[in-house]
Amino acid sequence: MTVDLHDFVATVEDYPEPGVSFRDISPLMGDGAAYKQAVDAIADFAKDLNVDLIAGPESRGFIVGSPLAYAMNIGFVPARKGGKLPREAVSASYTLEYGGINELEIHKDAIRPGQRVLIVDDLLATGGTINATREIIEKLGGVVAGVAFIIELESLQGREKIMKAGEVPFLALMEY
Ligand code: IMP
Repeated sequence: MTVDLHDFVATVEDYPEPGVSFRDISPLMGDGAAYKQAVDAIADFAKDLNVDLIAGPESRGFIVGSPLAYAMNIGFVPARKGGKLPREAVSASYTLEYGGINELEIHKDAIRPGQRVLIVDDLLATGGTINATREIIEKLGGVVAGVAFIIELESLQGREKIMKAGEVPFLALMEY
């Protein structure tokens, strides 16, 4: 039996600032059937993409990417916020949707040249987070095999921004 994943998204009006509708996937992650269905759907999308590794940005990308990597029997690479990794890392910075600048980092030895990496996150907004993750993967010689999200906020045109950096297979389980 499948569930309607939309029933597991909580919308919070005026968060984190007035005029913004924040989509919270905590209910989805808190429900075994919905969480498994979402992860399995991404695994199904990924099965023909020759993926060697899953990468996800801190922190909700970890919640999507770790069970996916486990289900696919491959490794997971965290893209952490700046200054948190203990060993040599490669970084990229980007502008946040609600202002400010953020930095993401991946350990230098986490991805070998030529490895095919699927990037996942809970939600695609402006695309800054994903393009920064992609920039690091490509600096390390990795190849972006695809990108997948639980939610895409269509009006912010993040998908276009991703494709401008180079066409890649794309999946969003829900669009708002
Ligand atoms: P982007 O870099 O503008 O695409 O923003 C995407 C990042 O911000 C993701 O890592 C999301 O977790 C987070 N984010 C932005 N808007 C929302 C939202 O409405 N709900 C949940 N997370 C969000």
